Amino acid sequence: MPKPLSDRFLGLRPSATVEMTERVRNARAAGRKIIGLSSGDPNIDTDPRIIAAAEGTMRRGDTRYGPPAGLAPLREAIVAREAKRSGVAYDPADVIVTPGGKFALLTALMAVTQGGDEVLLPEPGWVSYGPCVALAGGTPVGISMLDRIDEAALARVVSERSKAIIVNSPVNPTGRVFSAEEIACVHGFAQRHDLWILFDQVYSDLLYAGEFSTPARLPGGRERVIVIDSLSKSFGMTGWRLGYLVLPPGLAKTVLKFIQHSIYCVPNFVQHAGITALSLADELVPAYRAMFRSRLKTAAERLSSVPGIRCAMPPATFYLFPSVAAPDADVARRWLDEIDVATVPGSSFGRGGAGHLRMSLTCSERELDDALARIARVGIAA
Ligand code: PMP
Repeated sequence: MPKPLSDRFLGLRPSATVEMTERVRNARAAGRKIIGLSSGDPNIDTDPRIIAAAEGTMRRGDTRYGPPAGLAPLREAIVAREAKRSGVAYDPADVIVTPGGKFALLTALMAVTQGGDEVLLPEPGWVSYGPCVALAGGTPVGISMLDRIDEAALARVVSERSKAIIVNSPVNPTGRVFSAEEIACVHGFAQRHDLWILFDQVYSDLLYAGEFSTPARLPGGRERVIVIDSLSKSFGMTGWRLGYLVLPPGLAKTVLKFIQHSIYCVPNFVQHAGITALSLADELVPAYRAMFRSRLKTAAERLSSVPGIRCAMPPATFYLFPSVAAPDADVARRWLDEIDVATVPGSSFGRGGAGHLRMSLTCSERELDDALARIARVGIAA
């Protein structure tokens, strides 16, 4: 036997959401009719015009390496979209196109973390934050922030070794949106402790109430904030793997060396699909937003009428995060085994998520209706 694999890999915990998605896929292949409320993968077919752009690129023979930072027209389109959406005037030179938001996050963490540096991350929060911090050689430190983040919660976790803080708004798994005051609080805290802010805004297109605030807009924000974003959720393009980073001015040249030595570039046909997607944003995104909003509203109401479940309509995303008056892992297992409904226990998203389930309303309306009827029938009791 050769020597063991690296501790970096051996110590990594699997992704609870990807594992559940795979379990559902396998159970379906074996003939079970599972309703999947577990994966953040919208049931949106990519618009045919986006597909045609990719196909046209390949047929033109544009099938070779491209620039590591991404195609200039795509980076310009991203900057134009950001100016409209978050009100920040970025420079295309600071944008790097990546294979999905997940790789944008890993790139940002590889750029700022080393030697056990501590990275503060939200709990409950997306399952990949901690493992990506560990892969980058850092130590994840959770901040409890189910309903809000404040100075006291931040002060409890910060140390001399803190290097960065991950902020995700709108939030996976709760669907919550950080208020302008909370964003200012995190930004002021990061300034006082010299921390980088990794700002994950992949759900910012799916906002139903209130305003989207970004720390990049605050004075000094551009120097400190690394933006992580993706076309996955807004355009039904999860499988295309297309995301991006926006870096503080002057960093791109250094960060690009990592891209050169790892992925080299995102395929040109995927990037051309992205250019077309962004050109259609004003037509497509409002329709998807309206669809998810109406699903969330109906489902939140129906779930709330089940004894032991409390479910608020979130201001963003396609996730519900109801509280259940029973151990969350037991309820999730029971629903999967007895009524073929797949959800993710809230405790998979870290401390503070316990006692909740994450339900992703990304299946068809008919399946959702069916799942809600089954849940109403069996309830949560063991
Ligand atoms: N951030 C958050 C909070 C997410 O939920 C996801 C996807 N589940 C991502 C980033 C990355 O998405 P993708 O790699 O598909 O762009």
